[in-house]
Amino acid sequence: MNLNRTIPVQCPKCATAYQVTVTVIVDTSHNPFAKDLLLSGQLNVVRCPHCQLESAVAVPLVYHDSHSAKLITFAPVAIGLNQTESNRILDALMKDVAKTLAQEQDTSYFFRPTHVGTMAELVHAVLAADGITAGMVEQQQLRSRLVMMFLQCDEDSLIELVKQYNSQLDEGFFQMLTVAIQQLVTQGNVEVAEHLTQVQQTIAQHSTVGRKILGDLALTDQKVQQVASLLNTLGDSPSQSALMQIVVAISDDVEQLHAFVGLAHPLFDEAFFQQVATEISAELAQQIREMKESVENHHRQQIKHRLSFLQQLIVDDDPERLMRAGGIYLDRLFMELLQQLQQTNTAEIADKLSQIEKIALKIMDARMTPEMRYLSQLLDAETDAQIHSLLQKAVQDFGVKFLGVLDDMAKAYRENGEGDVAEQLVVFRQIADTIWEQHND
Ligand SMILES: [Zn+2]
Repeated sequence: MNLNRTIPVQCPKCATAYQVTVTVIVDTSHNPFAKDLLLSGQLNVVRCPHCQLESAVAVPLVYHDSHSAKLITFAPVAIGLNQTESNRILDALMKDVAKTLAQEQDTSYFFRPTHVGTMAELVHAVLAADGITAGMVEQQQLRSRLVMMFLQCDEDSLIELVKQYNSQLDEGFFQMLTVAIQQLVTQGNVEVAEHLTQVQQTIAQHSTVGRKILGDLALTDQKVQQVASLLNTLGDSPSQSALMQIVVAISDDVEQLHAFVGLAHPLFDEAFFQQVATEISAELAQQIREMKESVENHHRQQIKHRLSFLQQLIVDDDPERLMRAGGIYLDRLFMELLQQLQQTNTAEIADKLSQIEKIALKIMDARMTPEMRYLSQLLDAETDAQIHSLLQKAVQDFGVKFLGVLDDMAKAYRENGEGDVAEQLVVFRQIADTIWEQHND
């Protein structure tokens, strides 16, 4: 299935004619990254090679999600295609999509697609297919307005405002703040991200739900640390009976179980589940099995998104622009997959990939804080001596703040399904603790 087309366009500002590759099929199984672009208003946005103007190219396209059995056709009213012509194009695209489906799959929804004529309608239809209602979108917009307001005032008026809007500062609000901060960091807006983090702290300390979340977070962190230290004492390949001892110790605490599965899931095999079932309970075995599946499924999704992103980058005429739009996926996992692809592809594609790699490194480096640069060197370090001397320097430069950075990053990696990196960071944290104590003596 060819998801993209190369078409001629003309710049609306300087009238330069040039060729661009645009996406004409957005299929959540084949190019999930295109859906992200669509929802963030970045799909088929191109940059004029002459005057650098960025503009959206409107082309007929098909959106397909086989999981929610949803097909949406987009015939942009703006380009003035007649009905027959746009039907012909959309029919051909739908046939392409249908060919990729398994024969036994129910395709009756292909006969009743949703038709839309503007990009805004397309975004609404996609959100609706995901079960996100207009009311939820409105609530999200209200939350964004609150954040904008909070960002613009000084500390004293912020506290007043937080008290005034206390009832609206719910868990969803704090979740949105956290996502916004992560996005700012990945886009390289480290200063705004830091400012927003301080604002978030103040809001959390002065709001009812915020205070509860702060307490919960501290408790969760503590529990995860406990599980990580338990696991660390077991070494690289712990025996099944050692794992069983941990399960027995933490089986009543769901949060500790989550941490345990996140860190140790590759070690769980059928024999392990059997032993949990016979010695503790079948319910617990099932619970751990489901947690393991969920962690691994999440990791697979992460890989799928990045591969789709990479495929889009390979065919795109302006990978640098696209990489800034998809900055959220530029991470260690992205680089690992990129290197794997380089080894298995033709020379031509490998060449394109090495250009992509250079740009990615440049973008990733620009958004790193000095603390994160240390972190990246630590993860690349090969000997214990290197790790020790890097940690010594970091603790000297940043003091106790660096310990907090290690905690935050360990948490971020764990939430990202990368338990092995998280565990490494916990080990760094323990060494750094010792250095910090000696430093203070
Ligand atoms: Zn131009």
